[in-house]
Amino acid sequence: MDDLMDELINELTTDGYLKTERIIEAFRKIKREDFLPKENKAEASVNHPLTIGYNQTNSQPLTVAFMLELLQPKPGENIFDIGSGSGWQTALLAEIVGDEGKVIAIERIPDLKRMGDKNIAKYKFKNVKTLLGDGTRGYKKMAPYDKIIVAAAAEIGIPDILLQQLKVGGRLVIPVGKYEQDMVVMNRVAKNDYKEERYPGFQFVPLVPNEWGKDSD
Ligand code: SAH
Repeated sequence: MDDLMDELINELTTDGYLKTERIIEAFRKIKREDFLPKENKAEASVNHPLTIGYNQTNSQPLTVAFMLELLQPKPGENIFDIGSGSGWQTALLAEIVGDEGKVIAIERIPDLKRMGDKNIAKYKFKNVKTLLGDGTRGYKKMAPYDKIIVAAAAEIGIPDILLQQLKVGGRLVIPVGKYEQDMVVMNRVAKNDYKEERYPGFQFVPLVPNEWGKDSD
């Protein structure tokens, strides 16, 4: 299993998706299989999204690699992770930001939040806080953030509150669009100035407001 995962990581590196040493190290250390349901653990090293129930997926490794390379998480940073699902990306981020940093992860589906918590607990992180709620409302208590990452498609555009909760110098990575998404990177270069980059060709589950009635604050 580990060999196959190593192969996938090497492939993502050779193909230029994984570039940054600390991100590659996190991919080696945080095992995707620890974040998958029993039924599809055996497929952990396959470069596809995998189902985690509730019509949601553990994202494709290539996409996670691409997004983390755009986000450029660094040790000590305060990061908001929206749509934490299985918890895999949350754990990758926690490994990268280290003890001096913090990852605030939010998930809207209660059972998935519980599953993510159980998975993340395997790694004994002290720098992760998980929340049940709607990430499109931001999370003021821990704002502003160095980085914000969203693992679901913002169909009608970027929630303004997320742009507001970025530090100046901070960065948001979010898929935007209805049927297909552009990966959009928003760099907050000054209080009222954002620089945008776009990378087309992604498909995500939709970012939806929470209908379970529980709010993140
Ligand atoms: N990073 C996760 C991706 C899960 S798929 C993983 O690799 O496992 C996207 C997740 O976003 C789903 O679990 C979905 O329930 C969640 N989601 C969708 N809209 C949301 C919202 N408004 N707030 C919080 N989570 C949301």
